[in-house]
Amino acid sequence: QADSAAYRAKARGRNRYEVFDEELRSTISRRLETEQALRRAIDERELILAYQPIVETATGRVRRFEALLRWDRPGHGIVMPGEFLDVAEDRDLIIPIGYQVLELACAQVRAWRNAAPDGTTPHVAVNVSARQFAHPDFAERVEAIVNDAHIDPSWISLELTETTLMDDMVATSSALRRLRDFGISFAIDDFGTGFSSLSYLRRMPVSVVKIDRSFVLELGETQAGTAIVASVIQLAHALGMRVVAEGVENAERVAALVTLGCDYIQGFYFAPSLTPAAALQYMHEDQRSRARPGL
Ligand code: C2E
Ligand code: CA
Ligand code: CA
Repeated sequence: QADSAAYRAKARGRNRYEVFDEELRSTISRRLETEQALRRAIDERELILAYQPIVETATGRVRRFEALLRWDRPGHGIVMPGEFLDVAEDRDLIIPIGYQVLELACAQVRAWRNAAPDGTTPHVAVNVSARQFAHPDFAERVEAIVNDAHIDPSWISLELTETTLMDDMVATSSALRRLRDFGISFAIDDFGTGFSSLSYLRRMPVSVVKIDRSFVLELGETQAGTAIVASVIQLAHALGMRVVAEGVENAERVAALVTLGCDYIQGFYFAPSLTPAAALQYMHEDQRSRARPGL
């Protein structure tokens, strides 16, 4: 118990004390319970993926989805990643979970491809945590999963947050280049939150920049907010990258992003994350209803 209190004192910034009390006891037992249930979830395959459409701004077409993790936990319904990912990270469960996510996404792309009469395959972006990326056999495991699923590596991409990409371990690892050579592309997730610069990230083999929702929220609100989004788009284009705006919820922001030349839009304005069947249906819906959105 003393150890738990000391751990919390460190987590809260050191140079302080914490008392082991009922609250701490129940936090610990809840986390322990989540951890145990999560271990079972991995074995019992309770983890599933939902797919959020990413709309191509110029045409209204949907050919890309982001795979988002959900836990279909018995007795709890669908649990969102915010409720269990920190326990998964803490207890190193994020590594087996991450590989399972990749297997699920690859199997889904394979199934969509098999079902597509005209051979169009939607592209799926998969989130990868820093810890998983730092796993020594990461590149090898990813290649094996892609090969086993009999999919083309270009059908999937990996999203790494800006903070992950700034980590020295990641920057100096050969995994990025090895996987790029294998045919997998990378996106910078949550761009704008990590205080890095695009000129630093330019040295990374990254093809897509995802502008974080916090910047999208500033769009049209203040002149500075609009200027920041405009310049990220311009600079990304100058560096040969495409841009996705995240968390777009209304028509005004869509219109502003169209004007600024943003390549893709993702957000509740178009669609939340969907089941695989609903995602496929959304893709085939009349794209004209999404073309020149907001205009
Ligand atoms: P993220 O990668 O930034 O994913 C986008 C999150 O924003 C998703 O939440 C999505 O549902 C939500 N979102 C999308 N459009 C809108 C919008 O218009 N408005 C608002 N308010 N939110 C929107 P979700 O699914 O709860 O995921 C949260 C985070 O959990 C993700 O953030 C990602 O960091 C992490 N995550 C999700 N799936 C995985 C996974 O398979 N592996 C790893 N390592 N992390 C994952
Ligand atoms: Ca993401
Ligand atoms: Ca994001």
